[in-house]
Amino acid sequence: MIGWVADHRRHHAFSDRDGDPHSPWLFGTSPVALARGFWHAHMGWLFGRDKTNVDRFAPDLAADRDLRVVDRLFPLWVVLSLLLPAVLGGLLTLSWWGALTAFLWAGLARISFQHHVTWSVNSICHMIGERPFASRDRSANFWPLAILSMGESWHNTHHADPTSARHGVLRGQLDVSARVIWAFEKLGWAWNVRWPTAKRLAALAR
Ligand SMILES: [Zn+2]
Ligand SMILES: [Zn+2]
Repeated sequence: MIGWVADHRRHHAFSDRDGDPHSPWLFGTSPVALARGFWHAHMGWLFGRDKTNVDRFAPDLAADRDLRVVDRLFPLWVVLSLLLPAVLGGLLTLSWWGALTAFLWAGLARISFQHHVTWSVNSICHMIGERPFASRDRSANFWPLAILSMGESWHNTHHADPTSARHGVLRGQLDVSARVIWAFEKLGWAWNVRWPTAKRLAALAR
């Protein structure tokens, strides 16, 4: 988890330039280079040896004892995330078949599907889509993934204004994550939330 934050901050610091851990433009712009870049940005980079230095990119998180505990227990979260749906499926249907199908669909298939959506933000959303705001990279807003990615695919807006809690800032752009942050703010669980202002958006518009 802390490693993910470090990777992501490095991605913002070097987006689509040398040093970006997952840019699809790393190998060039020919069709073959882009096919290779797509694979690299989507999931190939995860298997590379280029590891992000956590002490440089996420020293604040590494210094937080609670976050370190959550981070170290990552294997436990994975096991629970696979086990709980299976147990629920078994109990609700009172059958081993229910446990197995819940394990497959609510466990393995769910995790794999959601990973591909997240990875698509790194690959597709740095290649295809609209770029209404000025950013230093090739990030783009790709509307077909808006609902599945819960707003993350308004990725050009995110790169133009990374600290904004809302990525879907234009008319009709659904952003479920922003709504969740909004609810957390109302409940007092989140504070100092940065919401987009008309003035700032106008300054960032291309
Ligand atoms: Zn990006
Ligand atoms: Zn980001």
